[in-house]
Amino acid sequence: MSILIDNIGELVTNDQAQGEGLLGIRRDVAVVVEGDRIAWIGPSGQKPAADARIDAQQRAVLPGFVDSHAHLVFAGDRAAEFGARMAGEPYTGGGIRTTMAATRAASDDELLGNASRLVDEARRQGTTTIEIKSGYGLNVADEARSLRLAAKLTTETTFLGAHVVPPGSDPDAYVDLVKGDMLDACAPYAKWADVFCDRGAFDGDQTRAILEAAARKGLQLRVHANQLVAGPGVQLAVELDAASADHCTHVSEADVAALAGSNTVATLLPGAEFSTRSPYPDARRLLDAGVTVALATDCNPGSSYTSSMPFCIALAVRDMRMTPAEAVHAATAGGARALRRDDIGRLRPGARADLTVLDAPSHIHLAYRPGVPLISTVLHNGVPR
Ligand SMILES: [Zn+2]
Repeated sequence: MSILIDNIGELVTNDQAQGEGLLGIRRDVAVVVEGDRIAWIGPSGQKPAADARIDAQQRAVLPGFVDSHAHLVFAGDRAAEFGARMAGEPYTGGGIRTTMAATRAASDDELLGNASRLVDEARRQGTTTIEIKSGYGLNVADEARSLRLAAKLTTETTFLGAHVVPPGSDPDAYVDLVKGDMLDACAPYAKWADVFCDRGAFDGDQTRAILEAAARKGLQLRVHANQLVAGPGVQLAVELDAASADHCTHVSEADVAALAGSNTVATLLPGAEFSTRSPYPDARRLLDAGVTVALATDCNPGSSYTSSMPFCIALAVRDMRMTPAEAVHAATAGGARALRRDDIGRLRPGARADLTVLDAPSHIHLAYRPGVPLISTVLHNGVPR
């Protein structure tokens, strides 16, 4: 089965060998998809024949969004907590325990149903790859169950037993559990391991012990780093060659320099600052220092209950001083780097056929027209939805 996407006004390839600027933009082109891969990109006038045709009507086509940070396996709702926070209560991360209780009490069907609903919601907004973390089970059985369910929805599964210490547990005993029995039970379903290294969660020594144990089990690493306060998370992420340090809201000059000289992406999650009414990370400072930046939703029921990458792009442009091109790049190629994937996030022959047709002539409209549903067609693995 081949599909010709014809009459594309603006194609974002994220490949500077193919087109102009950071986004590698080409104009008046066509794309041919064969099976789950891109087979051909070239001028509209030279397009080959295909089994089916999509007329892009001079609109923009982008790589599918890569949401490299989401917490989708949970039950319950924390709208009341959000309302209280908007009435002036500070965010402390303590609500994770509320979701833990609801998650443990839910059936597999409820958890999977809720997570699939969120994956569908993200897909309608242009997301073709989504990472899913555990982290609301916080015991061996419920963490393993969360990852077993997440693995039904994505290959990018992340073990986050070290989200917080569950109530009533001794912190040192819990760290031993996470890097022992819990890791053993979760590793078969997880590609990644992550630790919330922050005030009220895990300190540098605990984070290092857990990540090193996970690496010995063959998991790749990512870190929730420097969200609430400055701390050792970013430096640890770089030292342990984590794919991503996520949040990076409170970073020192040394943290920025370490990221710039590393393979570790800074993943910024502006939905979290929006939903906790907190200061945004300084994306400009990171980009100007040469750090690779990704944007992701942090979709979770407490601190960022959005599945919308276009919303995060709009926040990044408006409130984090990223250009529209930088934000779109971070939400596609940046996310792919944060997952150490080279088959997604770029449009070129041989790449996975994950792309979106915007209901707009340019990628700039994603920030220029915030809150407007601009995703008209999404192809995932070459299949239109
Ligand atoms: Zn998170």
